[in-house]
Amino acid sequence: MKKILIVVDMQHDFVDGSLGTKEAQAILPAVNELIASGKFDDVYFTFDTHYPDYPETAEGKKLPVPHCIYGTEGWALATETSPADEAHIAVKNTFGYTGWAEKLGGAEETESITVIGLCTDICVVSNALILKALFPEIPIFCDASCCAGTTPEAHRAALSVMKSCQIDVINE
Ligand SMILES: [Zn+2]
Repeated sequence: MKKILIVVDMQHDFVDGSLGTKEAQAILPAVNELIASGKFDDVYFTFDTHYPDYPETAEGKKLPVPHCIYGTEGWALATETSPADEAHIAVKNTFGYTGWAEKLGGAEETESITVIGLCTDICVVSNALILKALFPEIPIFCDASCCAGTTPEAHRAALSVMKSCQIDVINE
């Protein structure tokens, strides 16, 4: 039985790049510590990924700040630890990754899933709810001390929504 950690979008553009926040910078040491803690059997990393046509995309029209353009420094991870291999990378061009069932394999092998990263109110909550829908019998945790929102208020609101949806929010 595996304990899985999913690190959402800990990329430079969300930490210290075009969409960076001081809250995202503040959680980076705790994120690095949790990844290195040895508490998890498998660590997956999502990468928000856009291309030069970003301004023409639906997301770009609502959020006209280019970010995580594939291959740029802003797309790269800000964490100390890199993914073990390609299989532990989830590239996505929208908020939630839709390939978790294939990526994580059988639910019977999974003891728990912990979700951390950025931003609490967009990609963390999106992925947590997708995982809850795919794996309703597996405990899904969100470690609030390793998440930051677009604003502190939005962070707290997203934690509240996750709790309503029976995600176990810890270290709030
Ligand atoms: Zn994006």
